[in-house]
Amino acid sequence: MTQAQQDPRKTSLASAVANKVWDVLVIGGGATGLGSAVEAATRGHSVLLLEGHDYAKGTSSRSTKLVHGGVRYLAQGNVSLVREALHERGLLRKNAPHLVHDLEFVVPAYEWWAEPFYGIGLKMYDVLAGKLSLGSSKLLNKEQALNKASTLQKEGLKGGILYHDGQFDDSRLAVTLLRTLEDHGGVALNYAPVIGLLKDGDKIIGATFREEDSGTLHEVRAKVVVNATGVWVDDIRRMETPDVKGMVAPSQGVHVVVDKKFLPGNSAIMIPRTDDGRVLFAVPWHDHVVIGTTDTAVPNTDFEPRALDEEVEFILRTAGRYMDPAPTREDVRSVYAGLRPLVKPADAADTKAISRDHTIVVSAGGLITVTGGKWTTYRRMGEDVVTRAEKVGDLPERMTLTPGLHLHGWSQDERPDHWKVYGTDAERIQQLPGADRTLHPELPYTEAELRWSIRFEQARTAEDLLARRTRALLLNARASAEAAPRTAEILAEELGKDEAWKNAQVAAYQELAVGYQLK
Ligand SMILES: Cc1cc2nc3c(=O)[nH]c(=O)nc-3n(C[C@H](O)[C@H](O)[C@H](O)COP(=O)(O)OP(=O)(O)OC[C@H]3O[C@@H](n4cnc5c(N)ncnc54)[C@H](O)[C@@H]3O)c2cc1C
Repeated sequence: MTQAQQDPRKTSLASAVANKVWDVLVIGGGATGLGSAVEAATRGHSVLLLEGHDYAKGTSSRSTKLVHGGVRYLAQGNVSLVREALHERGLLRKNAPHLVHDLEFVVPAYEWWAEPFYGIGLKMYDVLAGKLSLGSSKLLNKEQALNKASTLQKEGLKGGILYHDGQFDDSRLAVTLLRTLEDHGGVALNYAPVIGLLKDGDKIIGATFREEDSGTLHEVRAKVVVNATGVWVDDIRRMETPDVKGMVAPSQGVHVVVDKKFLPGNSAIMIPRTDDGRVLFAVPWHDHVVIGTTDTAVPNTDFEPRALDEEVEFILRTAGRYMDPAPTREDVRSVYAGLRPLVKPADAADTKAISRDHTIVVSAGGLITVTGGKWTTYRRMGEDVVTRAEKVGDLPERMTLTPGLHLHGWSQDERPDHWKVYGTDAERIQQLPGADRTLHPELPYTEAELRWSIRFEQARTAEDLLARRTRALLLNARASAEAAPRTAEILAEELGKDEAWKNAQVAAYQELAVGYQLK
């Protein structure tokens, strides 16, 4: 970063540690924490958000990329959850048209009963969406189904059902929420893990965090503290009460990414019932196809969860039954895993049956923990949390403004696919050096985008840039590793780092990228 430019992170750190009592301190910078922080800031409360790693490093960059009501939950009879999510889908479509778009899904029918059976269910989905519907579902004959999804397995295909849902770019939405938070006076800091809670008697009055660049510890005070750390919420709860019973059962979901040729066109495929009773999606995304997912109970909450071989085999086997040509291991450009923060009922063994609804609990000391839910409902979770926080923190009680809040960069303009996610920032990015230089022949990103993310989006590492500001890691893990040296060079130049730092960045990123490639 040149002398004339102010490193936004330094400004955030200075504000974070300024001697003041924040109205709200949010721990965790995924969908839930960022949504809660935006909600609090737009209600006029002072807000600080601390993220231990990078924004959306956890589950929030590892989703199926759908803004959806969840047809699967409808099949489970969870009508109120689906209605709420469909409502939120409609709001997000209006508030972030640069990040969310309509997507047609084809449910292929290979049995005589499948069309009427799923057709009725999807009509109900339409009805529940009400005024915020993205379009009506309809029955397709075989030819129409193949027109929409030409690589569907033709043998035995009777027809299909077409329905609509939303699609988005998850980590770009997280970065957009960060910018929206800042636009409304909130402060956020990444690489600032909370390592302890401050107490006055039994009451929680703040937290201690470590600033990772310097290793220094800082204390921050707040009237109310929100724990939005996803699958890690129990770690924070134990900082208050060491023997508290855990409330999250992590469940792993894996996706593979393959070339667009496996699903040309603009429609997605939804397989309504796999061998393990789930649904499987094949979704076009940034000129590639994302296929998943799985649901595997796991004992640990790693920051870099790894796909199990049997999960990858399951996805490829199931996709191969419905897609022609069938994708194989050699076709996989990237494989990624995420952990669902499912809230445990008293004794749950089967994670598929655990509620996807969100849960808010307030501890004896006033720590508000929020978890569960999904990306689609992040705004609603934030609204509920802040309404609670106003009571717990004795803050003025104010109306929510987020149902109609345009997010940072709001734009309905059509732009080429990967530029669209920046909304109105796209033109400013194109003014930066390197707008005409792509990072790698197999990736769409330009050097200007990296400079932008370092200057204005708190990107600090090659991983931040290649995994979450751009989506290079998920689109093509090998190409992203090849782009790491140039990425680190730009980072070092912008942040004023030396050769050794640059080399360490390249090594760390290339090691990470190995975990996203199949051997
Ligand atoms: C496989 C899969 C597919 C999914 N697909 C969809 C989908 O298509 N659509 C949809 O709507 N939802 C989907 N979801 C659900 C959705 O992704 C999650 O509900 C959501 O991302 C959870 O966000 P979160 O903020 O609660 O958690 P996270 O995103 O995990 O955020 C928690 C954050 O807390 C930080 N943190 C942890 N400890 C500390 C600490 N001590 N100090 C500071 N920070 C800390 C972490 O670094 C992390 O960034 C999917 C989930 C999975 C797993």
